[in-house]
Amino acid sequence: MPLTDTFGRLHDNLRISVTDRCNIRCFYCMPETDVKFVPRDEILHFEEIERFVRIVVGLGVRKLRVTGGEPLVRKDLPVLIRKLAGIAGIEDIALTTNGVLLAEQAAALRTAGLKRINIHLDTLDRERFRQITRRDDFPKVMAGIEECLRLGFETIKINAVAVKDLVEPDIVPLARFGRERGIEIRYIEFMPLDAQGLWLRDKVLLADTILKQLSDEIGPLEPVPDPDPRAPASEYRFRDGIGTVGFIASVSKPFCLNCNRIRLTADGNLRYCLFAIEETDVKTALRDGSSDEEIARIVTETVSKKWIGHEINTTKFVAPPRPMYAIGG
Ligand code: SAM
Ligand code: SF4
Repeated sequence: MPLTDTFGRLHDNLRISVTDRCNIRCFYCMPETDVKFVPRDEILHFEEIERFVRIVVGLGVRKLRVTGGEPLVRKDLPVLIRKLAGIAGIEDIALTTNGVLLAEQAAALRTAGLKRINIHLDTLDRERFRQITRRDDFPKVMAGIEECLRLGFETIKINAVAVKDLVEPDIVPLARFGRERGIEIRYIEFMPLDAQGLWLRDKVLLADTILKQLSDEIGPLEPVPDPDPRAPASEYRFRDGIGTVGFIASVSKPFCLNCNRIRLTADGNLRYCLFAIEETDVKTALRDGSSDEEIARIVTETVSKKWIGHEINTTKFVAPPRPMYAIGG
């Protein structure tokens, strides 16, 4: 039984958060202090994650993205990657990381079967990096990027969160860096998922504004025909043939109608949307002796309840009770 919701959307993509902990403190995600983390015994074990993935593969899931919190702070992450890469039916595994621990872990991840990696970096300016992340780890992230380039991952992308009146000076340098190093920069509109309730519509640096800035200051861009219309980013290439950029315009151009994603939180809850208010407990079923069929039924029922889309652009919008780091971005 494929995972189709009541709007006919087929779900073949699972995002797995392996921890809600993080080694930096980006202001648009985490509070600076007094972070409330899930107790360790509530976090799914690798075996539980692996079993869940096998079950959803039976329901048609083919693509995985491992995320967090910061996935590289989870001990022995390459062990999990190897388990997941070995599951028949999985066609693609990607990882999203802040890159701080990447220089030391990239080789083990690559050997374990990881081919695609997204590294989160908003700026090439060490001071602004410190301001955004409240940590001075810019050199470590750069070392992580260099190590991934050296190891020859199939795809390396950089995720940059687009916050207005803050990162405008970074937009062009990042794109130039991407053009030089063969890395796609993906600009992600600031979403209302921060722990401190700082988000305001006025603080979103819109994809169209960035596109114009890049065209004005670097050169004309043209849309890349999308091989997978359900992918969240719209891609553009520079007309001079050097490099591409992507935009995740969740606020200005929501892509909910094409959504093919479900999410498993680190503490074993299933979400049908990043912005969902409700989530379904799967951990209990994974731990109480429930059969694979019973767990598959929980997944199918959760997908059948999926809404048509988030309502950021309406007055009805309510931010989810958990911030980004606790959901898994
Ligand atoms: N720690 C890893 C990282 O930073 O890449 C993985 C988890 S993080 C929650 C996943 C992605 O979410 C990040 O790459 C960042 O670009 C994005 N992100 C975090 N907070 C955001 C927000 N409020 N709006 C838009 N994107 C956000
Ligand atoms: Fe950590 Fe990623 Fe959130 Fe930044 S965006 S605080 S790196 S989980």
